Amino acid sequence: MIIVLKSNTTADEKKRIIDKVHSLGLKTMVSEGVERSIIGVIGEEDKIRVQPLEAYPGVEQVIAVLSQFKLVSREFKPQSSVVKVKDVAIGGEEIVIMAGPCAIENLQTLREIAVNVKKSGARILRGGAFKPRTSPYSFQGLGVEGLKIMKQVCDEVGLLSVTEVIDPRDVELMAKYVDIMQVGARNMQNFNLLKEIGISKRPVLLKRGMMATIKEFLMSAEYILNEDNFNVILCERGIRTFETYTRNTLDINAVPAIKMLSHLPIVVDPSHGTGKWGLVTPVSRAAVAAGADGLLVEVHVHPEEAVSDGTQSLNTDNFEKMVKEVRAVAEAVGRKI
Ligand code: PEP
Ligand code: MN
Repeated sequence: MIIVLKSNTTADEKKRIIDKVHSLGLKTMVSEGVERSIIGVIGEEDKIRVQPLEAYPGVEQVIAVLSQFKLVSREFKPQSSVVKVKDVAIGGEEIVIMAGPCAIENLQTLREIAVNVKKSGARILRGGAFKPRTSPYSFQGLGVEGLKIMKQVCDEVGLLSVTEVIDPRDVELMAKYVDIMQVGARNMQNFNLLKEIGISKRPVLLKRGMMATIKEFLMSAEYILNEDNFNVILCERGIRTFETYTRNTLDINAVPAIKMLSHLPIVVDPSHGTGKWGLVTPVSRAAVAAGADGLLVEVHVHPEEAVSDGTQSLNTDNFEKMVKEVRAVAEAVGRKI
């Protein structure tokens, strides 16, 4: 339910309405617009329908929200959200580039990759320490040792970090080492993990499940916001279709669709979206043209020697070219890198 206030509603009137909602055991989310404020109501709405809320001074209209995602919806919060992580803002004017290897392999290699991606314009270093591999015999990641390497390199080079968390029991530990916790496609509906990250209040990059609809994706984000963690960045990374030439089918529709449905920032992962390094740059240009707030790109100094996902990783020269091309598109749509 949304309570739309009149443009001349006083602070006292607003407080009376919020107090009333709280007294019924429901939560509120207030969104201050330029012209008027909106109060989103979360909880068992049946409790409130019996109350003639529209009769309260200052209320213009009470609107039912039928969708199952509320906190993430633009109806609840018309202004786009900007997720601030230290000195980086995701969802503002800047297209934020997150780049790095699929997996953290060793200190030397990560450092070399980090220095290169930073030079080309990346703000955030990606790399998995806990890898959710499809096969139990594939490299599973360096674990805590990888997190330590990530932190050391980021501190040295001056980048923020994003890395995947796969177990709710690791959330507290990860929070010590990383700036943004990634929930991977395979865990998009691991609700205990989502709740734990919600409780931690840490910035999170939530990837779309490979078989999830846009609405299911947003409902997963709702789990995190429902724990009062609004630091959520969505990530479109491609879905499974009948097409097999590419690893996944990047759903470019999802970018403007999510912008319409939600206030949350959305970034695109062209690496997992395509599975082929040669497609990464053109798809990145398309993502930024479609309104993406950032890119998550796999980069390696020697993709042919990478322990995972080398075929979709750009080498550092190609990454530099990619950023240049994407920058031109960003400028054409009023953004910057
Ligand atoms: C990743 O980004 O490292 C990853 C495993 O991606 P996804 O969860 O999208 O498959
Ligand atoms: Mn990968």
